[in-house]
Amino acid sequence: MQGLMMDRQLTITSIMEHADNNHPNAEIVSVTCDSPRHRYTYADAFRRTRRLANALIGYGVRPGDRVATFAWNDYRHFELYYGIAGVGAVTHTVNPRLFPDQITYIVNHAEDRLVFVDPLIVPALEKIKDDLPCVEAYIILTDDDNMPDTGLKNAQSYESFIGSQPDRIDWPELDEKTACCLCYTSGTTGNPKGVLYHHRSMVLHTLIGISTDCFDLSVRDVVMPVVPMFHVNAWGLAYGAPVAGTKLVFPGPKMGDGATLQALIEEEQVTYSAGVPTVWLNLLKYLDETGKQVGTLRRVVIGGSACPRSIMEEFEERHGVYVNHAWGMTEMSPLGTFNTLKPEMQKLSREEQFAIREKQGRALYGVEMKIVDDENNELPWDGQSTGLLKVRGPFICSDYYNTGVPSDVHDGDGWFSTGDVGSIDAEGYLQITDRSKDVIKSGGEWISSIDLENTAVGHPDVAEAAVIGVPHPKWSERPLLIIVRKEGSEVTGEAILDWLRDKVAKWWLPDDVVFVDEIPHTATGKIQKTELRKRFSGSE
Ligand code: ADP
Repeated sequence: MQGLMMDRQLTITSIMEHADNNHPNAEIVSVTCDSPRHRYTYADAFRRTRRLANALIGYGVRPGDRVATFAWNDYRHFELYYGIAGVGAVTHTVNPRLFPDQITYIVNHAEDRLVFVDPLIVPALEKIKDDLPCVEAYIILTDDDNMPDTGLKNAQSYESFIGSQPDRIDWPELDEKTACCLCYTSGTTGNPKGVLYHHRSMVLHTLIGISTDCFDLSVRDVVMPVVPMFHVNAWGLAYGAPVAGTKLVFPGPKMGDGATLQALIEEEQVTYSAGVPTVWLNLLKYLDETGKQVGTLRRVVIGGSACPRSIMEEFEERHGVYVNHAWGMTEMSPLGTFNTLKPEMQKLSREEQFAIREKQGRALYGVEMKIVDDENNELPWDGQSTGLLKVRGPFICSDYYNTGVPSDVHDGDGWFSTGDVGSIDAEGYLQITDRSKDVIKSGGEWISSIDLENTAVGHPDVAEAAVIGVPHPKWSERPLLIIVRKEGSEVTGEAILDWLRDKVAKWWLPDDVVFVDEIPHTATGKIQKTELRKRFSGSE
């Protein structure tokens, strides 16, 4: 027997309409190229979104067309998130930090017709514009007064593009499985692959994302996403905030600038933020140097790479900010697990709590997880057994966009192989030990490079650490520790190994330490181990 409930579709348009009706006066504050502090309300944002939608339709954007954005976190990008999806087209967010040949590949692969680009990113696109034949026009995210001189095809300012359009629209009734956004994984090997989200997956991800044991967003919060809107949907915050009615603060191109982040937090009373570990180092360094505070900040979510305990401790002990660790992937919209403590864990000692809090957390509702051995046998959730992590769920991709061949990372039962290796304990807490391609196997036993790296960055003279496996005649592989020293430090390898000695298992202790000026990163801020392996172990 079928239930008798209305068949209303779960769409991004419905998020916009909900916020417009219920939170019209919640504010959105942005730093942009043309304004140090732009300020308006959700009602203003969606009024302009309707003008944008009319402009897109007027231009001839059709349902299913891909429209690219090269933009920082700000109010115009927010309008694009809603306007493009609202007309049934696909918002293709592009990471401007990708290598030019990767950008060329993905714009052509996605066949983007229109490109919306921030003025600061225009020079990068000018270099590759002749290789992007599918792009018909470039809309620069500014007004006529601030238009850069550019040779980009049919360039026009965003303000003139939406200029004279009416702010009324009858949004099309979209099927909830209509594609709404597209994001390419950065593909450390091979070409990037497109993850194509639909309205329904985004709405489900949003509702779960704002729930109490996840972002816990409310109408009383002020959220500043420091995770970029150009990659993995800013972890869903640009959808979650309007559902909850949360004030949004966007740092624009200043995401990596500690001074701007501190000023925004204090002046806009930010209570909540989220980002990858490295962005917080800039803020913490700035606070340390200036003695300034972030008094209103209550919580920070850290994910995208394993969060070192030293960052959690510094936030908490010096600034009274609680850190939640989270894990996810582009293919998962991206939230997978989120770490909050269960009530009985509140009674544990600080050390015992940290042992749990350093893990990546428990699966969110909607995410099924399992770990498997090399023969695909499911392993127990005992906190010890370590294997390849597989996931399944309604906001996890079922295949990649338009590759021409079926995905080789989905199995017959629909499980997606994450490429991450880890264990799950009896309480359901996932601990990622490595990417499968980065695993170090020494004498038949696994050594977690993530654990070693996070322990090493706890050393007061270490700015960044990476661990790779190098071939060894007896043990097959041994860990090599690669260190960037803090400015002015002359700490020796011996001193670091001595310091690590009582913090890691004896056989995990790296055989050698090398010092470098810089560790290479991917466009999403992850350590590029392929490069390190080429340089230090002669393999990839
Ligand atoms: P990319 O586009 O760089 O492929 P994603 O942003 O989708 O990447 O990154 C997903 C990967 O990042 C995960 O598979 C995992 O390896 C890593 N990752 C994300 N969050 C964490 C975390 N909290 N701890 C450890 N690794 C993480």
